[in-house]
Formats: sequence, C-alpha cells, structure tokens
Amino acid sequence: MKTVEGMRSGAGGALPSADTLDRDDPLRAQRDQFSIPQGLLYFAGHSLGAPRLSVSDRLAEVEREWRRHLVRAWGDCGWIDLPRQVGAKLASLIGAAPDEVVCADSTSVNLYKTVFAALPLAKGRRVILTERDNFPTDLYILEGLARQARTELRVVESDQIQTAIDGDVAVVALSHVNYKSAAIHDMAGITAAAHKAGALTVWDLSHAAGCVEVKLDEAEADFAVGCGYKYLNGGPGAPGYLFAAQRHQAVVTSPLQGWLGHAAPFAFEEDFRPQEGIERFLCGSPPIISMAALDASLDLHRSVGVAALQAKTRKLTDYFIAQMDEAAAGMGFELVSPRDSRIRGGHVAYRHPEGYPIMAALIERGVVGDFRAPDNIRFGCSPLYLRFRDVADAVARLVDVMETGAWKDPKYQTRAKVT
Ligand SMILES: *Cc1c(COP(=O)(O)O)cnc(C)c1O
Repeated sequence: MKTVEGMRSGAGGALPSADTLDRDDPLRAQRDQFSIPQGLLYFAGHSLGAPRLSVSDRLAEVEREWRRHLVRAWGDCGWIDLPRQVGAKLASLIGAAPDEVVCADSTSVNLYKTVFAALPLAKGRRVILTERDNFPTDLYILEGLARQARTELRVVESDQIQTAIDGDVAVVALSHVNYKSAAIHDMAGITAAAHKAGALTVWDLSHAAGCVEVKLDEAEADFAVGCGYKYLNGGPGAPGYLFAAQRHQAVVTSPLQGWLGHAAPFAFEEDFRPQEGIERFLCGSPPIISMAALDASLDLHRSVGVAALQAKTRKLTDYFIAQMDEAAAGMGFELVSPRDSRIRGGHVAYRHPEGYPIMAALIERGVVGDFRAPDNIRFGCSPLYLRFRDVADAVARLVDVMETGAWKDPKYQTRAKVT
C-alpha cells in the first residue's frame, strides 16, 4: 500500500509529519484512557464515542450499590441526585451555570420539552423556525410538535435563517454544528437577531459538545439540548441533557409533567406542582446505569477543558483535509465541510457519488467512518483519542480503496440497516 507520507516526501514534504504532530500534541496521553481495538482507525466518535476505561469500574460500583442497597440506593447512594450532578458537569462543558442543566431523556424528547416550553414565552407568535438541513429527528419532532401545539413550522435554507426571523417567529430551533457538513452556526449572532425580533432560541448541541467550545450564557441562549453518546462518550443510548437559562426557569412548564419534575415527588400529591429550577424538566426515573457511565466519562473532558478539546479537533480536521487535498485529488471527493476550522465542528464530510460502497470497503479495511444518505461520507475526529498518525493512515487506506477499485466489489453495494 502506498502511503500518503511516501507520496508527500516525493512532492517536497509540505505537511508536517503525523509523528511530529503527535509528539507535540498536548492531549496525546489521553488516548491511554480509552479502549480502542488494536489497529482500528476509529473515525465514528461523532456517532458513538469510544468507552473510557474507567467506565467499567463505575458500572461495577453501581451494580454493587444496586445489589447491596436495593431500593435504598436511590437515597443512600445519591442516585436521585445524579441528573442534577451530571447536569452540573455538562454545564461546565457548554458554557452554562451548574443549575441551568439537567441530564435526562433523549435529545429528541428534550427538544420536544424545551421548544414546547419556550413557545408561550414569545407571546402571540405562532411560528417555529428551523433549517432544512437540520438532523431529521429534530425536524420530525418539530413537525409533530407544531401540529400538536397548533403552530406553524417554517423550514428554510441555512443561509436564510437570519432573514426568516420576522415578527411571527416564536422559537428558532437549530443545531449548533450541522450533522452532515459540520458547519457551525453563529450562536451569539442568531440568538441576538432572534431576541431583537422578540423570539427565543433552542440550540441542539449534539455534534458540538465535547469538540467545540460552546458558550450558552455568553451567547444569551434561551434553551439547549444535546446528546451524551457522541463526543461525550457516554455509551450507546446514553441520556441526553437540557439547558434552560436561569431567567426562564421559574416561568416555564414542561409539556411532560412527570413525577420527578414535581416539587415533592414522594409526597404523592394528586396535583402537579413543578420543582423550583431546572429539575422541573425531569419526567420519569433516570436511567442510573447509563447516566453513571456518562458521568464517569465527563470527568476527563472537564480535566482537559473545552478550549484544548476544540484546539485539537481543529488541528485534526485541518490535517485530515490537507491529507485528502494532497493524496485524493481527482478521485471525485468533494469537501462538504467548511475549510475554515473556526466554523467547523469535529467531523469532516465529503460528497462522493459512490460514497456508500467506498465507506463499506473502508470499514472492512479497519477505518470506521460512516455514510449519510444520499452521498456523504463522514470522518469524526474525536480529540481525546485520535492521533494524527490515525488520520494519515486512514487517508492512505482510502486512497488505496480508490486506486485498487476495491469499492466496486458487489458485496459493498447492498445497504445495511444501520449506516
Ligand atoms: C445525534 C443527534 C440526535 C440524537 O437524538 P436522540 O434522541 O438522542 O437519539 C439529535 N439531534 C442531533 C442534532 C444529533 O446530532
């Protein structure tokens, strides 16, 4: 197999070598905290983050608590406080105050709760605004919600958002980092435009938290939601989270009034009375096992810090694009992600008419990225465990798949259930 670096030294060695970049990487030691199969180049951390090794200790601890304390563990082992505690840790990664975030439910459910809760705050307005390119679950939730709440869903192109914020818009619901292109929206600018027009914002941070420095309070964001299993490495189906700015908490109502959002869940009162703060957005029992796994992972993100996470992400994705420019030029790959790393999240996406079989062939060669219909292939560059060496090797294997025509094998043409 021809290596990219081999080709490059022939071309004059314009790029720094992967090994030099790895040696100078302040986060290089963090990889040892993770369990990644030997030889695997894992570029799907934007979809399911790798497990931190210490997660298994934490899970064993929860199992011991369960065995020993049974139902008493909810109080004696602090399980009942976990949603708020994990929320406070998440807050430090997304630029929020500890009492503004709670860990609960899935992103989809949290989006429903926050947008529903935000609507009455924009009095008399009837429109929810979003973009066509938003993650499909966000579009589906908003479509159903608009019908149930008798409001109108307005879906516009990404570059039309600012102009579409008029006097009818109640809520602007967007993803901070686009799931396909990784383009970052100007959170502060859009939020300011929304506020000026009398609307509120709900940001989905799923592809941002853990690889981009998010500043919710500085941007004066109203609400936000996000996902625990991508760059936060919480594990499959890890609970999501929800942010409500302090100034809104006393006046909002969750549309899902479950018992754990009640001011006194164990008083078993007949009527609903919401908790004081962010916990009024809780609904049913928290999934303690998966929330504990997320909790154990987050300590690492916090100790490294969001600025360092974003700096590494930008360098990794820059390096990915530079390698592709050099080694895969003329092979039909069109960069979908922004070239400017300041407005790019944690993954790099390319369009290619044969994207599906190319990614299938690549996965069989030990480079796990993913495919998003109709023709996008994505490479997630998780800052905590990926090396520059992994980037160089992944691009070399991709070039090999193209040069040998390996992707043309009929076995790569049939689509799997999960892509
Ligand atoms: C990953 C992702 C989700 C996931 O939603 P779940 O309800 O947790 O499955 C939602 N929105 C966006 C933008 C995402 O990237």
